Amino acid sequence: MSAMAAFFAAAQGAFVVFSVFHFFVQKREAVYTDILIQNGTVVNHTGHEKADVLISGGRIKAVGKSLAAADAKVIDAMGCFVFPGMIDTHTHFDLDTGSAVTADDFITGTKAALLGGTTTVLDFATQERDGSLKDALRTWHEKAQGSSCNYGFHMAIARWDAETEAELPDMTAAGVTSYKLYMVYDALKVDDGAIYAALRAAKKEGALIGVHCENWDVLLRRIGEVQASGITGPEGHPLSRPAAVEAEAVARLMRIAELAEAPVSVVHLSTGEGLLEARRARERGQKVFLESCPQYLLLTDEAYKAEDGEKYVMSPPLRKAEDQAALWEALAGGEIDFIGTDHCSFTMAQKREFRSDFKKIPNGGAGVQHRLQLLYTYGVETGRITPEQLTELLSHGAARHFGMDDRGVIAPGMAADLVVYDPLPESVITDTNTAHNTDNSPFAGLALKGEVKHVILNGEHAVENGRLILSGSGRYVHRTASGCCK
Ligand SMILES: [Zn+2]
Repeated sequence: MSAMAAFFAAAQGAFVVFSVFHFFVQKREAVYTDILIQNGTVVNHTGHEKADVLISGGRIKAVGKSLAAADAKVIDAMGCFVFPGMIDTHTHFDLDTGSAVTADDFITGTKAALLGGTTTVLDFATQERDGSLKDALRTWHEKAQGSSCNYGFHMAIARWDAETEAELPDMTAAGVTSYKLYMVYDALKVDDGAIYAALRAAKKEGALIGVHCENWDVLLRRIGEVQASGITGPEGHPLSRPAAVEAEAVARLMRIAELAEAPVSVVHLSTGEGLLEARRARERGQKVFLESCPQYLLLTDEAYKAEDGEKYVMSPPLRKAEDQAALWEALAGGEIDFIGTDHCSFTMAQKREFRSDFKKIPNGGAGVQHRLQLLYTYGVETGRITPEQLTELLSHGAARHFGMDDRGVIAPGMAADLVVYDPLPESVITDTNTAHNTDNSPFAGLALKGEVKHVILNGEHAVENGRLILSGSGRYVHRTASGCCK
């Protein structure tokens, strides 16, 4: 901490960030009771074992056989998996797109996350075109007040110039060690030169940049073509942005990162073609990190033909069965590094309003609650991935790549974020049986195997027998340099 303190003292600019950080960081004092999780199967990315977990003072104190603690609250995990708290690398809570505001804010979204076993979300603090990164960070700290799970921020850069570049060290000092750049959207898009320069600058900070890869100019032309052909409903959405729109952008990003000699990540990878481009870059020796989302693994573009096709409008769009197959194979083969939900929920009323003009339908869907259950059901239960891989993809991978050194692993000394998952109960997702603050789910109709029984958040019992018993106790996660840059 003293090095950090010295940095704050030295850097005038960082002082503002420091104040913001301290002003907004939790006010509630945690009430620690020792907790003993007994008889479960503890799963880390490296292996699993039958063991007890003792939690004390917010940290994991011991992992081993037949642990005892006189005054501890005992949680029986017989027949259950004990996972490290899950980390969602991609959420959009309380986002105003300019034409619509998301249904979930940090209050509702983080409760849904916690009920689904996600103890930390990484949301996107987004710079205004004429604003600073510091302003965006302050705004998102305000939005996140009262969160029920832990949270950190990727910083979305909407304007790359000397002023923005000069703010990067302040962001590092404030615990922001990842960024996002958009190749799309008028309010966010930056050009290829900016991507190149930002990659070089972020590398010096030990920060990882993730990029939304689609070719904006081409997809705009295609939207015009599709609509001119008379297709104006949601079925036009995937036609306007087919796989090559993503793959071209991934290929371009890979070459830009090669030139910048910097690591890079692709957010919400959705296509087999895009995967091939990333694979080529890796074969050239580049450091490339890939995120995908449950919707690209489990849903296809057939959904746009449904009566409620507007529900599935998101970008990138849902893809073909062959894309799903390629992504599952990549998951099993260790080519995908982490899974985020891209949770960005809207109500059906918000979506239906623009049903006859697909380019205006608010983009996004709800999913933050179901990532673990979906990946367990369709990944582990089907034998496509092991419980260890599940842990890597949903927790440890994110912790490692996004600088959360004391999370993502169940071991003595680590922060006590844990999930007790009972693999036996069966259920089906419907549009309304979720904790999301909206009336629809793109996953409605999908069967689930298993449920989250208990969640420990920062050493406190937060979900007990599937019921939220602790809210508003989420903490800001001050992150260090990305593992990909260390
Ligand atoms: Zn997103």
